[in-house]
Amino acid sequence: MPGWRASYECSSFKTDQLPAGGVSEIAVAGRSNVGKSSLINKLLGARLAHVGATPGKTRSINFFLVERDGAPAFRLVDLPGFGYASRSKSERDQWARLVGAYTAGRENLVLILHLVDFRHGLLKNDIALREWLDGVGIPGLVVFTKGDKISRGRHKSTRNAYIRSGLKSVDMPIITSSKDGTGVGELRLFIESYLAMPD
Ligand code: GDP
Repeated sequence: MPGWRASYECSSFKTDQLPAGGVSEIAVAGRSNVGKSSLINKLLGARLAHVGATPGKTRSINFFLVERDGAPAFRLVDLPGFGYASRSKSERDQWARLVGAYTAGRENLVLILHLVDFRHGLLKNDIALREWLDGVGIPGLVVFTKGDKISRGRHKSTRNAYIRSGLKSVDMPIITSSKDGTGVGELRLFIESYLAMPD
């Protein structure tokens, strides 16, 4: 790990509970059960996100502060899972209201990691989330989860199939596994170099 030290900062359940800006933020989005909590914990090297939480229970936006050499480097922002949002219109609206209030005019939000389960191809919720992210206008990097479920020999062709199917990403999608650690170092390096890029 490039000298990161992560800690829980706060949670927002309502649109008026968002923390002040300042430090650069990288948000993590994906449908429920995509492996978001597991990947956040692996990436930050700490058990901060709740793995296996009942889908729909985590309706807050959780903010984690990552420090490097004792100084704030960025915030990792755990957006509520998108899955429950498809159950009813009111839940979908609730998700969009909270996440929309967060993303609107958030100048310190520099990147959204769009998590996609490597096994399934694009599910309805992945596409719906992608369309929502398109509307937000923040650069999105696709990060595949559960890469250990696909044999290594098929990683390249599987990734290419996703790209052919129109999955958009600011850079080459990164294949990760929280189980065996595949791609996690690569994702850390991507984040470091993305943050270091001049505006
Ligand atoms: P979330 O709902 O998106 O936060 O997903 P979780 O991190 O809670 O994971 C959902 C389920 O997928 C759990 O049973 C995890 O153990 C499993 N899981 C998460 N990441 C991986 C992975 O990289 N490989 C495998 N095989 N299972 C995973």
